[in-house]
Amino acid sequence: MVEVRNARKSFGHLEVLKGIDFSVGKGQIFALIGPSGSGKSTLLRSINQLETLNEGEVWLDGERVNLDIQGMAYERHINHVRQQMGMVFQHFNLFPHLTVLENITLGPIKLKGMAKAEARELACDLLAKVGLADKVDVYPSRLSGGQKQRVAIARALAMKPKVMLFDEATSALDPELVDEVNAVMKQLAAEHMTMLIVTHEMRFADEVSDYVIFMDGGVVVEEGPPAQLFRNPRQERTRQFLRKHL
Ligand code: ATP
Ligand code: MG
Repeated sequence: MVEVRNARKSFGHLEVLKGIDFSVGKGQIFALIGPSGSGKSTLLRSINQLETLNEGEVWLDGERVNLDIQGMAYERHINHVRQQMGMVFQHFNLFPHLTVLENITLGPIKLKGMAKAEARELACDLLAKVGLADKVDVYPSRLSGGQKQRVAIARALAMKPKVMLFDEATSALDPELVDEVNAVMKQLAAEHMTMLIVTHEMRFADEVSDYVIFMDGGVVVEEGPPAQLFRNPRQERTRQFLRKHL
């Protein structure tokens, strides 16, 4: 479903991604872990084209994502790509001047030409799914962090993406709000949504993922099923990292 081949990215002289390869199958849940500055966010942002790779390829469902084109063709391509990848950030990025409903329906109406009534119905279904059916007409400022993040997830799902990318979706939340967001992610996992999850919560990664990638210094140091990576890591660097973070 998502394939990354030899991804390389530098900011000036700083080489942040030094040739990353992996491939997420349909319905798989990948956790991406690693120390601060190891390039996890850059990798995720490069997948949905918020950053441009210097080298390498990103593929989504058999389609090349990073293309060397410009102008209108590029804009069209990017819109097409972004509609198929839902991204949830650490900070919720909801539009403060729009209600919860409007936040969720904006994309389907503007980008997919969905009728308003249909978009409203979809939004209500998604809000029920994330446990916020009663917040339809509320503005984001009236929501807790956990509720905002659940709206952000519902908004991403409204585009019916092929894959969901999460970049530390819970790390800006008060501890007591983390579980409600993790519960939504677990539910998506149970429904076999394809997901790539950057997280610093090792227990959550262990519970939810099929496969874990440990990055350090812009390379994949070790990868494998959570049972292996967390309980029987092969690399000393992985062991060191886990000692600090488990
Ligand atoms: P964290 O766990 O703290 O979120 P990360 O693994 O997500 O870290 P990145 O945010 O991908 O790490 O950053 C990797 C490196 O690239 C860091 O040294 C960072 O300072 C640098 N970097 C990221 N974005 C930019 C940018 N736009 N310009 C310059 N340097 C950047
Ligand atoms: Mg990051």
